[in-house]
Amino acid sequence: MAYNVDKSDAQWREELSPDQYAVLRQAGTERPWTGELLDEERAGVYTCAACNAELFKSGTKFDSGCGWPSFYESVDPDAVQLIEDNSLGVARTEVRCANCGSHLGHVFPDGFGTPTGDRYCMNSISLNFSEKSGE
Ligand SMILES: [Zn+2]
Repeated sequence: MAYNVDKSDAQWREELSPDQYAVLRQAGTERPWTGELLDEERAGVYTCAACNAELFKSGTKFDSGCGWPSFYESVDPDAVQLIEDNSLGVARTEVRCANCGSHLGHVFPDGFGTPTGDRYCMNSISLNFSEKSGE
């Protein structure tokens, strides 16, 4: 897939912190319960930490108890790219930013009690938050 934002590996390394690079560009996973945005409850939007594309709205964030920021849907189906991921010997669905291809986390069909039943389990370090009323 061709992304709107297309940077070389060297550019990403320069722009992102080492921790951000490990997650966003190498599909790493931050330790649970460590993310800055885990307990963020203000109204606003969550954007990609690599390219600033809008990804999630605060109204879809819920407390899943898994230790990572969780949302039941993205701002738009086209905002994220879903990729089958069979690493670790488990069938999972990877979630990437559709604008720059950076790794965000995984989506699981266990968002029990939410309107979609999905749980977008996101690395906090992959996201930035902007306060904005009405979201
Ligand atoms: Zn992005």
